[in-house]
Parts: sequence; structure tokens; C-alpha cells
Amino acid sequence: MMYKTIIGLEIHTQLLTKTKAFCKCSADHFENEINKNVCPICSGQPGSLPVLNEEAVDLAIMAGLALNGKINEISKFDRKNYFYPDLPKGYQITQYFYPIVSDAYIKIDGDKIRINRIHMEEDTAKMLHQGDQISTAKESLIDYNRAGIPLIEIVTEPDIKSPSQAREFMEKLRDILRYANISSGDMEKGALRCDANISIIDEETGKSSKRVEIKNINSFKFVEKALEYERERLIEVLKNNENMVQETRGWDATTKSTFSMRTKEEEADYRYFPEPDIPYLVIEKDRIEKVKNRLPELPEQKSKRFVENYDIPEYDADVISSNKEFADFYEECVEIVKDGKFVSNWFIGDILRLMKENEDEVNDLNFKPEHLKDLKDLLDSNKISTKIAKDIFPQVYSEGIMPSIIVKEKGLEQIDDDEELKKMALEILKANPKNVEKYKNGKNNLLGFFVGQVMKQTKGKANPSKVNEIFLDLLK
Ligand SMILES: [Zn+2]
Repeated sequence: MMYKTIIGLEIHTQLLTKTKAFCKCSADHFENEINKNVCPICSGQPGSLPVLNEEAVDLAIMAGLALNGKINEISKFDRKNYFYPDLPKGYQITQYFYPIVSDAYIKIDGDKIRINRIHMEEDTAKMLHQGDQISTAKESLIDYNRAGIPLIEIVTEPDIKSPSQAREFMEKLRDILRYANISSGDMEKGALRCDANISIIDEETGKSSKRVEIKNINSFKFVEKALEYERERLIEVLKNNENMVQETRGWDATTKSTFSMRTKEEEADYRYFPEPDIPYLVIEKDRIEKVKNRLPELPEQKSKRFVENYDIPEYDADVISSNKEFADFYEECVEIVKDGKFVSNWFIGDILRLMKENEDEVNDLNFKPEHLKDLKDLLDSNKISTKIAKDIFPQVYSEGIMPSIIVKEKGLEQIDDDEELKKMALEILKANPKNVEKYKNGKNNLLGFFVGQVMKQTKGKANPSKVNEIFLDLLK
């Protein structure tokens, strides 16, 4: 049987402002002493009045532009009423009826994932459950530093076709938000949080499952894992004709499974109504223009430009441009090395691998564009083989020593001398008469064996293409 998967995401993103959404408290909640950044407004004292943070509005507009959306000329704030200890006012200021952005989208491998709306709201306080789990905690403490930090909520249409595409969407979104300095995009620190909803349809019978929402997923890996788990679970439920409820589930990373939290509350439960203390938000065209001018070149545009200017494959360009610092460093290197393809090969291969192994950021790197230039010169002048270049690169990378110095110190210069190589080749042939005979009887792939012997003897220092030619000549 075939099942169609339907996934939608709701993503909360903290905006990188200095102060909170409606007061002057610092928005730096992570490094700070608990309950330090609190005032009458963000703690919901009677009589306090919210004042909208204009920089938060600009960042929301920027997100709308970066995600190909329409910035609405008029939007409005509403109150979402519910009681929970992390919500000091008893309501959250959000946008329900008129969001600031509509009709945005992100393209993934040719699929257009529509974003129905992006609206502004404030974050809640942070609950600290004593002993990891909410269900087993003896007590819970509340840190109000996070209460009132500006968020945008990005709500997609159910256009996502698979758990892996959901992960790709999240990663691409994070890249864009980071590029434009809209959000740190840090999932581990809660700056980017995701609720995912999923349902499946049996394509043969047309029967569909109820929609299940998975709350508070806090890593890219878990987005994919939780949805995979839930898809399999829904298929089983549907197969067995079990009674299904529309519900909200949580993801447990230790058991790698989802668990039921509650049956879904209706939106009417929240009693939304317009926020009376904040006027309509009117966005003029010239404000949008100003924000547009602040927007840097985004990953997709950058990738296109890399393909055109540096003549590299789309895949390389996508990987390199997904991280801004990495892309900037790539361009710095190309400027000096003057060979986009050469640099992208090293970036996509050894450099990225070593960065991952060492958990390095671009700013941590010891090697400079000059090192790659030096390496290319060594290769171009046949002083070293590609193999030697790969062998010494980890040292170049970690210690920032010039490749030519390592080559000199370790005596790794390529053996390029025809006479010397020919002498070695003749010895190899003499020592392997049987293989020579087999070769002459048509086993051509033994050429690789002969070349390999010379490479082995010289510890990879012989010029392989020359050795190849010499053998071809000798074995005629
Ligand atoms: Zn405050």
C-alpha cells in the first residue's frame, strides 16, 4: 500500500533585537542572571502599557522579504488568552486576524513550500522543571528574562512531502535567517523552535488519518526522527482501523518515540481579541524599501552567482553558500588562488571534513587563502602529487604551516626525473616477470599494479602520470 504524507510546520523564531518586543528590557536572556530583565510591562503589572519595538518590526519585514513574502500594509496585534505560569499577563500579544506577512515561500529541490503567514508575537517565560521531565518534576521555577522577547511565527501550508524535506526546510530557513541577521537560528538555545503536524492518506482507499501535532522539537535531527516515527505510527493505526483522535504529542529523544500530551484544543479556546493598547501597524512603502536595502545577498542568489562567476557545480555552490562565513572565506580564497574550481574542491572535500571532525567554525581556522595558493603552485609545478597534497593538508589545516615548508622539511618533493623513474620501472618489471607476461597476453589492468609498485616504493612521491607513460612505453 502507498501512503501520502502531509506535513506542515509552525516555527517560532526569536528576533535578534537588543530589547524586548514591548518594553526596554534587554533581550539577551541566555547569558543573563535569572529574572534580571523584568519590568512592569513584560511581567504584566496592572496599568503598564506596551510600546512596540520598531526594530522587531523591521526584522519581521526583513524575514518576509527574505522569504519571498508580501508585506501587509496594515497589520494588527491581538490577545491570545490562556492561563499558564509562563505567561505573566494571562494573555500573549500576537497577531491573529491580520499578520504582518502573507504568501511567502521557500523552494526546496524544485518544490515550492508555501508559507501561509508570518506573524509577530512575544515569547513566554521559561519554565525550569526540577529534574529534567515536566511529568516527574517536584517543582518548577520560572525565568521571566525570556518573557516578551520578540518572535515571529512562520506557518507553512501542508506542502511538505516527507520528514527529510521537513528537515531540509528547517535548515534552509535557518540559513536564511542567519544570513540576514534576523535570528541566531540556534535550535539548541531555543532561538528556533518547531511544532510539526502530520497526517497520512492511504492512496488506494483514500482513507486519511487524523492530524497529529508534535510540539517543541528542538533539533534538526529530531524534526526528521519525530516525523518518521509518527508517520509509521499513523500507518499502523490506519491499517488496524483504530479509533483516532486529533491530538498533540511530544517527542522523547531518549526513547526515540512520541507520546500523547493532550487532545487538540480548539482555537476558540483562546478567545482571541484585538489588543487594545497597541495601534494598528501601518507599514509604508519607503519603510519596506529601507529594509530591503539592509538585506544582504541570500544563499540562493549567492549560489547562483558562484556557479556563474567561478564555474563550479551547483552542488558545490549550494553547500558553500549555505553558511555566510564559509562563503565569504571561499571568495577570499578564490581571489588569491584565482581558481574557483580548485578552491571549491578543497572546500567541499578536505576542509569541510576537517571542520566537522574538529567542530571548527570559520573564525577558528588557522589556515589562510595563501596556504591554498601555495598548495596549488606546488601541484601546478609538479613538485608534489595530489596524494601528497592530501597527506599534508591536515597539518596545513591544523597548524597553519605553508605547504611548501612541510614538503621541504619532510622531503616530499615529487620525483619527476625521467631517468630515475625509468630505472625504478625497469626494476619493477624485472621483479615481476609473470605479471609482465600476463599483461602482454591482454591483462591491461595490470598497468595499475606496476604504477602502484613505484608509488609504493617512493611513498607516493613519484609523478604518477609520468610513471604511467613510462610503463606504457616499456611494455609496448
Ligand atoms: Zn520588560
